[in-house]
Amino acid sequence: MQYRTYGKLGFRVSALGMGCMRLPRIIHEEQGEAQVDTEKALELIRYAADQGITYFDTAYGYHNMQSEAVLGEALEGRREKVRIVTKQPFGVMHTPADIRRNLEQTLQKLRTDYIDVYLIHNIQKPFWEEIKARKIIEAYEQFRAEGLIRGIGFSYHGLLPTFKDILDYYPWDMCQIQQNLMDVEREATAEAIHLAGQKGCALVIMEPLRGGSLANPPPSIQARYNAYPVKRSAVEWAFRHLITYPEISTILSGVTTLEQLKEDIAIFSQPDAVPGCLSAEERQILSQVRAAYESLASIPCTGCEYCLPCPNGVAIPGIFRQYNDGVMFGALDQPKRGYFFISRQGQDASRCAACGTCEEKCPQHIAISQELKTAHESLKGWIE
Ligand code: SF4
Ligand code: SF4
Repeated sequence: MQYRTYGKLGFRVSALGMGCMRLPRIIHEEQGEAQVDTEKALELIRYAADQGITYFDTAYGYHNMQSEAVLGEALEGRREKVRIVTKQPFGVMHTPADIRRNLEQTLQKLRTDYIDVYLIHNIQKPFWEEIKARKIIEAYEQFRAEGLIRGIGFSYHGLLPTFKDILDYYPWDMCQIQQNLMDVEREATAEAIHLAGQKGCALVIMEPLRGGSLANPPPSIQARYNAYPVKRSAVEWAFRHLITYPEISTILSGVTTLEQLKEDIAIFSQPDAVPGCLSAEERQILSQVRAAYESLASIPCTGCEYCLPCPNGVAIPGIFRQYNDGVMFGALDQPKRGYFFISRQGQDASRCAACGTCEEKCPQHIAISQELKTAHESLKGWIE
């Protein structure tokens, strides 16, 4: 296993971290719900820790609030060998008493006296001012002074401008963002990696395989990988795209099976799985792969946002992105989930009144209201 330094906190952590939001589950068909398959999850987490993974990421809300408890049980007796990182969502931190009570519950579930890094979960632009006003960071500083946490961080899924605002606001110990070979110019973009690195803020990457979508490319893309003399799986190519950045401390993999975990460990244990591991030719192949995926997208939206704001609040480029992802990767599960969260914010395509305002502004001349209907029909599964 390769290890890296964790920003200004200076920990050494495994370059592969285990994300605990896709633990094995048991589905109860009759009740229409799922719960963590504790036996398999314990085996998976303990195997990871025993094979040299030292970084474990969870959150208050993962797996219907079961993830922290399972992780705590799995790591009992191994606590001093690992770093445990967890997150609280802004929505459950209204008062100072809430913030403290939530931390105490989390410590109890994790069976530990301290958390290595405590995050504000998924800071979003519309709530950033409110997060500051609630003095959550100040509460976290008090926890750090009491020894209950050792570092303060945030996770983020939005665009670069808000990422910069958040990063510049406070001397964070770490930040966790989504990046992968498809998101170099999306989400917070690859520039966020460099910005965090310049500040000495430990950088943790989530969704390195884009929810697993990059693991099983269509034949036309697999052929590009196969043509290269060094044979690697699509998973390894996707991880190497991130391993090459020196600023990244840990890359989280949300494994579900022991087989996936063993494959990931093998990739991160290779002697050359280190910063700078990609040659110019290999970077070129990954650029071609990115372009090939993008050519599969059916709505030619560039994400320029000239169409915004919609008077009805429809998140036009965000919806098209979810739809195109479904088409590109041939799997709708993840986009449906993303669309569900868009709908929870009152921004889904059903709110479109076909006023046409956005279409006049779209440089790609997309029939936006029509395409929104198509996207809605494909993605509405989680909403209904
Ligand atoms: S056509 Fe629909 S999406 Fe476009 S501005 Fe009007 S309501 Fe919004
Ligand atoms: S203006 Fe057109 S291309 Fe730009 S984000 Fe809106 S729909 Fe996409």
